[in-house]
Amino acid sequence: MTTASVEFVEVGPRDGLQNERTVVSTADKLELIARAIAAGARRLEVTSFVNPARVPQMADADAVCVALPDHPDVTYIGLVMNGRGADRAIATGRINQLGAVAVATDQFAMANQGQTSDESVEAAKAIIAKAKAAGLTGQATIGASFGCPFEGEVGEARVTEMARRLAEAGPVEVALADTIGVADPAHVARLVAAVRAAIDPLPVRVHFHNTRGTGLANVWAAVAAGARVIDASLGGLGGCPFAPGAAGNVSSEDVVYMLERAHIATGMDLDQLIESSAWLSEVIGRKLPGMVAQAPRFPGSTSTKQLAKAKEA
Ligand code: ZN
Repeated sequence: MTTASVEFVEVGPRDGLQNERTVVSTADKLELIARAIAAGARRLEVTSFVNPARVPQMADADAVCVALPDHPDVTYIGLVMNGRGADRAIATGRINQLGAVAVATDQFAMANQGQTSDESVEAAKAIIAKAKAAGLTGQATIGASFGCPFEGEVGEARVTEMARRLAEAGPVEVALADTIGVADPAHVARLVAAVRAAIDPLPVRVHFHNTRGTGLANVWAAVAAGARVIDASLGGLGGCPFAPGAAGNVSSEDVVYMLERAHIATGMDLDQLIESSAWLSEVIGRKLPGMVAQAPRFPGSTSTKQLAKAKEA
């Protein structure tokens, strides 16, 4: 491993919550955001500007933005699907970066945003251009980069070509998203390397779901292959829109534990993440899938609280 650090993006307030059945209050969303910032996050996907009839969980996008804490070093990302969403995000005056999504297959692009895959690339480029014209930055994520719920396998050449086209619009990075959690580490290593070469010097961000238990292995493979930005969600919040009850995003605390133990700096405080994961579990009303928060702290002495608990058990 040649890298000494990665950039961490907390996506729990948007991707995590959007895939949870429990509708979380605006106040709790803001607390989640504040906790992530306190733990070190400097880039956060805070909401999406989409049709509230389709995504009721994100209906309070404007209310969240109005109350975002002022923090000069923090980049707030708003996900948008079209020009109208981009206008809404820009109008809040609080979003620093627009996130656009292009989808690797026609059938998924149709289901997700009513466009062909090619049209989704053009729409994402237009959103990035709009962000830049408004003095914001833009980024693009390629959804279903590693597999599609409708079409199955997705060609690596197709994704690489999409990344090259998206890079033409001048985003801060291009991301590969394993939207349905089917990627394996060898596939990740190949695709990250190919996309890196295609968009150099722009960085590659990766977005994994742990639907089939390969999430952390995929993060490791991506970082080893040169991905520089990692999306994760506190507690492993969320799920898969195509698999009710499935595990969510890779968990922030699990990713941070793995990378920090391997001497790759994330800028994140593990203890605070673990504490916030417990808080979030109460808010959502279920045990969250992240594993590190359920295990004794390592290294370091077992806390008296844990000892007391062990005695009870
Ligand atoms: Zn996702």
